[in-house]
Amino acid sequence: MNFELTEEQLLVQDTAKRFAAEDIAPTLQEEERNHEFRIDRVARMGELGFFSCVVAEKLGGNGMGFMESVLIAEQIAKVSASWRLPFNMQNLGPALTVEKFGTEEQKRKYIPGWIDGTKLGFFAMTEPNTGSDVASMRTVAKDAGDHWEINGSKIWISNAHVGDAGLLYAYTDREKKHKGISAFIIEPKTLKGCTARAIETKLGLHCAPTGEFFFEGARIPKDAILGEPGDGFKICMWQLNNTRLGCAAGALGVAGGALDLAINYANERVQFGKRISEHQMIQSQIAEMAVEHQAAQLLVYRAAWLKDQGKPNQYETSMAKFAASEAAVHAANECMKIFGSYGFSTEYPAERFYRDAKSLQVVEGTSNVQKLIISGMALGHTPNR
Ligand SMILES: Cc1cc2nc3c(=O)[nH]c(=O)nc-3n(C[C@H](O)[C@H](O)[C@H](O)COP(=O)(O)OP(=O)(O)OC[C@H]3O[C@@H](n4cnc5c(N)ncnc54)[C@H](O)[C@@H]3O)c2cc1C
Repeated sequence: MNFELTEEQLLVQDTAKRFAAEDIAPTLQEEERNHEFRIDRVARMGELGFFSCVVAEKLGGNGMGFMESVLIAEQIAKVSASWRLPFNMQNLGPALTVEKFGTEEQKRKYIPGWIDGTKLGFFAMTEPNTGSDVASMRTVAKDAGDHWEINGSKIWISNAHVGDAGLLYAYTDREKKHKGISAFIIEPKTLKGCTARAIETKLGLHCAPTGEFFFEGARIPKDAILGEPGDGFKICMWQLNNTRLGCAAGALGVAGGALDLAINYANERVQFGKRISEHQMIQSQIAEMAVEHQAAQLLVYRAAWLKDQGKPNQYETSMAKFAASEAAVHAANECMKIFGSYGFSTEYPAERFYRDAKSLQVVEGTSNVQKLIISGMALGHTPNR
């Protein structure tokens, strides 16, 4: 067992760290205030190869892997949780899923634009009455002879109103329950009968767009289906097991960012004649944050390593996502406490870490859903795949 990163991985990590410090951090405060999403920054991240780690080289991938993807997303999220979202939208979500299940034509048509960051991706499962229970979705794709006709709506979809092409999950045969769900690739900006609008009421992730889709008789071509009719649930679960790792990496970054922030502040702030880091209760808080951060890091890196080895990893990926998102929320909460009143001020990043961290307990399967997956496998009820 080797806990050292390779020279190449250290270089990748350093590139992402510098990008976050030089490209994101200087303007982040203002962009957060204005809820500003920067398409040019997604393209720049694409240029740097940030989204090309897991896709095959023949499709434009850079020959790295999940571990490198995780290292990059972690460094970005240490500065901004909003800016880790493109890792799921551009590569771990649509690109990787189309690489696995798509036709050669679909791969050639969509993957290059997703991974070079010039076409914004998305994946749409969630509906107003459908979250954790994916099979309860109501959106329908009717076989209308020479096309599919889509009716329904999706909510809480990252990139919905800015997305160029992405994945839509809908029922093609309700009778078959979850085996009647299918996956499609849609291009919403040019799709008649499809409208999208932004959700403006989010607590955090202000630089990451989230929106809704409405489909009213939207016609998509027959060949827009991904895989076979009825493959959608299987595809969705496979996709979530990858985007879940992206979320875990983001959570790890937030936990680390909040820890660093708290350490710096505790070493500067003086109360009762000494730095607050010299008070035992602050030391206890820092120790808990540090342990949880390290534990999450080991779990996240292990899940990435297993994926790179092509070994079963659902169990480990869910553990990583659960541990990292809980660590992120706890670290951000402790960080705010250590900052005292300044933690409550929007002048300092502590409150942003907290607001952003809360989303990580929800997306890609809530913490309860992760516990269902973990316990199911721990108890031997379901196999690890
Ligand atoms: C910022 C953001 C971005 C998002 N991006 C996307 C996206 O790109 N694409 C997409 O499709 N969705 C996206 N989502 C939606 C997200 O994936 C769902 O919100 C999530 O799956 C939870 O669904 P829900 O909100 O309907 O909660 P529900 O499923 O209604 O759950 C409510 C509560 O009940 C608990 N619960 C539910 N079932 C069980 C059970 N069986 N046992 C125990 N507890 C249970 C949950 O843990 C939760 O605490 C996004 C959400 C946010 C906030």
